[in-house]
Amino acid sequence: METILLADMNSFFASVEQALNPELKGKPVIVCGDPAKRHGITLAASREAKKHGIKTAMACWEALNLCPDAIVVRPQMARYVEASMAIIEIAKEYSPLVEPFSIDELFIDTKGTEKLFGSSVDVAHKFRKHVREVVGVPCSIGIAPNKLLAKVCCDVEAKKSATGVAIWSIEDIPNKLWPRPVKDLFGVGNRMERNFRNMGITTIGTLANYPLELLKKKYGIMGEVYHLSANGIDSSPVTPHSHDGVKGIGHSVTLPKDYYCWDETKVVLREITEEVCCRARRKGKIGKTVSLYVRGVDLISSVHRSKSLATYSNLATDVYPLVEWLFQKHWGHHPVRAVQISLSNLMDDEALQLEVFHDRIAERSLAYTIDNIRYRYGKTAIFKASSLDEGGLYHERSGLIGGHKA
Ligand SMILES: [Mg+2]
Repeated sequence: METILLADMNSFFASVEQALNPELKGKPVIVCGDPAKRHGITLAASREAKKHGIKTAMACWEALNLCPDAIVVRPQMARYVEASMAIIEIAKEYSPLVEPFSIDELFIDTKGTEKLFGSSVDVAHKFRKHVREVVGVPCSIGIAPNKLLAKVCCDVEAKKSATGVAIWSIEDIPNKLWPRPVKDLFGVGNRMERNFRNMGITTIGTLANYPLELLKKKYGIMGEVYHLSANGIDSSPVTPHSHDGVKGIGHSVTLPKDYYCWDETKVVLREITEEVCCRARRKGKIGKTVSLYVRGVDLISSVHRSKSLATYSNLATDVYPLVEWLFQKHWGHHPVRAVQISLSNLMDDEALQLEVFHDRIAERSLAYTIDNIRYRYGKTAIFKASSLDEGGLYHERSGLIGGHKA
């Protein structure tokens, strides 16, 4: 049955600005990373601004060329997060099964709520109206038997529909899903689109009917995922708390010997930080709070301290200085036996990457490139020169000593 809703807020940051400031209503508004810099990026454009051809991620000056009357506002991330949380609370009034997907998208499974609120289409209209009245933000909603179809249905149909709501059933797959270009499929980026095009696959339908064995041969397990997705099959449930911001990403290491000197300890702290940040990037998360747990030789001498970063990040260059600061401030001169570092207060990297990394795109993409090289060629392919120093565990922990299998 078509019980799953994907609600996507329209022009979210710009809509929140318009809701907060009535003077902006009905006007072209762009939320811009840093309007003072010519290279500031458009993080969101109101519906009125989009009519002039302004798009997300467009340079600010370019947007202003298209619409010189546009009102430029600085982002207020805290307000957007607040609005996002208010929207989640509204959704929970309709079903216990609510899963935030990004800062401005969430899944709601309406299974079993018919007696209270009517059909899933009824819930969609009620929820839309409710969000509009309370938070002041418009949204589009796709409804389908699973999350994957609900997402595509929202993107390709609900967003363009006058009612803001669209529903797809399994029977709609050949007519509605298959004619779409393959890039409309969730999880197909520019690189995969190119790969598929080289294989003669341009629509989701060609991908759906492509021999599964060949896809598996070429892309391994992902080949099967693409095959299922293209056929509209997705069995993942709507899971509340699965994107819980409180839960952290952490890594701990018990040292092979007690570490006495700062020079040695520093190297280990840096390695663990790198590992935590790498895991966060793999999960597509950025975090705000850094926690350090250090244990000495006996259990009594241990500290557990946290501190917040100035901004969300998943880069060791941001996280490490705080780790070092926490250690220096709270750890006495005892030998160290075990260390745990974690990053919590998490958000989706994608939702905020333009904001957080807008003038550090190169630094961010370098970190992801290194992750990919490690993933493909092993963890020892690239590492910090400091890991070769006294105290470095990197080679040992990746199962290699002196370049050979341990
Ligand atoms: Mg949106």
